[in-house]
Amino acid sequence: MNLSTSSMLIILSMFSFISAANIHAEEKTLSFEVTEVAPNLYMLKGINGSTGGNLGLSVGDDGVILIDDSMSSSLGIMNDAIKSITEHSIDFLINTHVHGDHIGNNEYFGKAGSWIIAHKNLRRHLLDKGVQVQSGMAPAPKNSLPVITFNHSMNIHLNGYDAFLFHTPKAHTDGDAVIHFKDVNVIHSGDTLFNGIFPYIDIDGGGSLRGFIAAQERLLSLSDDQTKIIPGHGPLANKADIKSSLAMLKDSRNTIEQLIDAGKTEDEIVDVNPLAPYHSKWNWGFITTEKMTRQVYKGIVKDREYSKQHKMKHEKHMNEMKHTHDHSGKGV
Ligand SMILES: [Zn+2]
Ligand SMILES: [Zn+2]
Repeated sequence: MNLSTSSMLIILSMFSFISAANIHAEEKTLSFEVTEVAPNLYMLKGINGSTGGNLGLSVGDDGVILIDDSMSSSLGIMNDAIKSITEHSIDFLINTHVHGDHIGNNEYFGKAGSWIIAHKNLRRHLLDKGVQVQSGMAPAPKNSLPVITFNHSMNIHLNGYDAFLFHTPKAHTDGDAVIHFKDVNVIHSGDTLFNGIFPYIDIDGGGSLRGFIAAQERLLSLSDDQTKIIPGHGPLANKADIKSSLAMLKDSRNTIEQLIDAGKTEDEIVDVNPLAPYHSKWNWGFITTEKMTRQVYKGIVKDREYSKQHKMKHEKHMNEMKHTHDHSGKGV
């Protein structure tokens, strides 16, 4: 090796060191990545750390619609990302559900004059339970509350698109909203879809395993091979991603159901590690394989309790009907 070759190697390795250092520095900067999923319709996703749930943004002549508004700590970088797309303020803010990583800046946008839209249960939760602050729960500020709520579904006609909002009962929470931009084949699923990672199902917040699976069945029924789905968490999704999530969920449910029927307790099931085949792909910091196992276990137990109560209510109702009928039939 002559001197010039070795100097070149040193320079080259210095370059690669510097560029690696630069990449490293960039990696550390928390920011939003903007993807145009259809004309004037964007997905905003936090990169290099957690900013909260993925956002949707529709811009156009009629106004600006923001879907979810991240964690309060992400406000500055979120506004920078929005300003890179539009200088206009947000006219409508849709909340997909009540969790703080999706509605952390409601008060800011409410004060600024945005109309907040959500499922009616989300507003009720904010009024009943308040919002999470560092010291615990605090009453929800007036400006953070949705001013337009819906029960089953509603439509927004803006910017040349029809946005169809619908509720998926007892899914990730009891107040989930999915937004379907039918004309451009885009769906914002909120947290009814975690793409490629184990999902969180907020059973204490009114979610259920059965409802969560039903919500994904509905997403699947609305999708074709070109559909783009902005998931609550994870990268932009397609129909194959929903299928793979559903297959994982149904298989996890079946496997754990069999263990419950064989008489195993929650801890014994965790010891068996029935979701081991999914660990390398789906496990992540917030929902580990163990947490997913416990969550599916609880989900099955709750679903069974609910079915039993429902069946008892139905039988009681049928008996009452029969009784009334027997009596009323006597005189005829
Ligand atoms: Zn979330
Ligand atoms: Zn959530």
